[in-house]
Order: sequence, then C-alpha cells, then structure tokens
Amino acid sequence: MLDVSPIPAFDDNYIWLLRDPGGSRAAVVDPGDEEPVLAVLEAEELELGAVLVTHHHYDHVGGVEALRAAYPTARVFGPRDRRIRGLTDPVHEGDEIGIPGLSERFRVLEVPGHTSTHIAYLGAGALFCGDTLFAAGCGRVFDGTFEQLAASLERIAALPPETLCYCAHEYTLANLGFAKWVEPGSSAIAQRAHTALALRESGLPTVPSRLGEELATNPFLRTAVPGVKAAAEAASGRSLTSGAEVFTALRRWKDEKYD
Ligand SMILES: [Zn+2]
Repeated sequence: MLDVSPIPAFDDNYIWLLRDPGGSRAAVVDPGDEEPVLAVLEAEELELGAVLVTHHHYDHVGGVEALRAAYPTARVFGPRDRRIRGLTDPVHEGDEIGIPGLSERFRVLEVPGHTSTHIAYLGAGALFCGDTLFAAGCGRVFDGTFEQLAASLERIAALPPETLCYCAHEYTLANLGFAKWVEPGSSAIAQRAHTALALRESGLPTVPSRLGEELATNPFLRTAVPGVKAAAEAASGRSLTSGAEVFTALRRWKDEKYD
C-alpha cells in the first residue's frame, strides 16, 4: 500500500509525496523547490526518509540540497549524472530499491529522451515518470534524442494498463488540445478533455492518469494507429515508416506549431 499526494510547486509542477498509510516517514519525487515540501512535512509531522530524482532539470532537483540539510539522514536516489548534486544512491536500469520508511519496493527504468539520463520509478502499481510521459502528452527532447524518447514511451506503453502514471507537470489540458488536432474525431479525447476541464475548474489535479487512458488518448503512445500516422504524415509532408518516425513527426509538430 502506498499513499501518494501532490505538493504543487512553481506554476505547474507536482512534487509527489509518498508514504505508507499512517506512516511517519515520507519520500518525495523531484523536489524542485524545498519550501512547499518542508511546509507539508511540518504540517503533517512527517520525517523525510528519501528523495527520488528522475532527471537533472532545475525544477526537479532545485530543493534537494536544502532538504538534505534539513534531514541529513535522508537518502537521495537518482540517475548517475554529474548535473545532479547530493545523490547518495545512484541507481540504474533494473535496480530494485527499498526506500526508508516505505514498505513498497520500486524498480528503476531508464527512460532517456527528454534528457539523456532520465529514469522512472515503478512500484505499488504506480509509475513516477518525471517529464517522460505526461498526461495526454510527453516531454520535449532536450539533451536526449527523439529515437530514445520514442523507445522509452514504447517501454512505458507495455506496462500493465492499470498502472497509475504520476508525471511532474499539470499540462493535461494543453496536451489534450494538441491530441484533438491529431485525432479530431476521437470521442475518447473529447470525453477526457471534458473531465480534465471540470477537474481544473474545481482546482484539482488531472494527474495521475491510468496508462490505459493514455493508450486511448495520448497521441505519443498511438503512433501505430493509422489515423495518427496519417496526421503525422500530413503535418510533416512526407511518408513515415517506423513508429519512431511517426513519434518524431508528432513531437516536432507540437514543438513548432502548438507550443
Ligand atoms: Zn525536465
């Protein structure tokens, strides 16, 4: 059993707080800012046992060193990458990690593409995927490659469809806007947009999402669908053969024309 709750940070980041139900020690995923984390830990009388980092971007690691200063025994898990300071436990593909204070174990998946060393954590039916997969979208390509990101998303797509995907940003409504451009006739996308809008209007997060819902509505997981491929071909003005080519055309289309 795992209890997960969001700590909002910056404009649209979520720092995920993990604990056993009723537990007194917590872990946080991608603390870009220490202040809101310290406030929640204090309010809920929790001790910080661990930090899980998915990738080196500032809005995911900016609070790590201050949290370590406040909780010197906290472990800091993350990919081995010189750009991430304060790691105590560098982790790799396939590692099964125990997290202080949590009874669930987590498996490390290397999912490069958004960055070259991005990882995700899978455990208790939950995937903490940073900026790799977003609800109805995916991260941009920074220092990874389009091919890497396409392959990483394919790996995620093969996980059990009931997996809950906890990404690190509230981008869902904008992503669904793009998804509608790709598949204008999709009732699943229209329904999801309706639900997401209602959640946001109530001040609620649209994250996590079920992987099955992503498979039905997220264009970046639907590169094998003929209508998605045709839309990517129309946008890029050429015929596309592999899933990675369709993915790249979709990602470039969104980068250039949409946001
Ligand atoms: Zn990022």
